[in-house]
Amino acid sequence: MQLEILLGIYAALFGLIVGSYLNVVIYRVPLGISTVLPRSRCPQCGAAIRAVDNVPVLSFLLLRGRCRQCGAHISWRYPAIEAATAALFVACFLRFGISLETPVAALFTALLLALAMIDYDHMILPDVLTWPGIALGILLQPLVPWARLWEGPWGAMALR
Ligand SMILES: [Zn+2]
Repeated sequence: MQLEILLGIYAALFGLIVGSYLNVVIYRVPLGISTVLPRSRCPQCGAAIRAVDNVPVLSFLLLRGRCRQCGAHISWRYPAIEAATAALFVACFLRFGISLETPVAALFTALLLALAMIDYDHMILPDVLTWPGIALGILLQPLVPWARLWEGPWGAMALR
């Protein structure tokens, strides 16, 4: 029981970190910019965001949603995505427990959250995310018995 609480906390913390990266993916992938480099910058003043100011959710609260350098407002969406990812990862853990299904479910939850937000912003689903998603879906399918291989293509066709 205590182990499960600990793992639930890990799932939340890991979700916060992944959510922070999803923010970068959501912003940069549609623009065709690398999600690894360069470091995140304030869109207003261009100041590089220091590691200490880049802690998921916490930095946003401590800085009261403003850039440390210029005081420009930072969108509440960044901490919201981080918190949502943490909540979704905990939900995956609560649903599937200590199993391989938990990381697989969390992976696709994160991918779908990024795709949903990019779709909302730009009305596109970038191939660079969807194709690897399809490949991973086929590859990881044996690990998740509830996701039958033939249901994937069937579902995709139904959405057309
Ligand atoms: Zn700034």
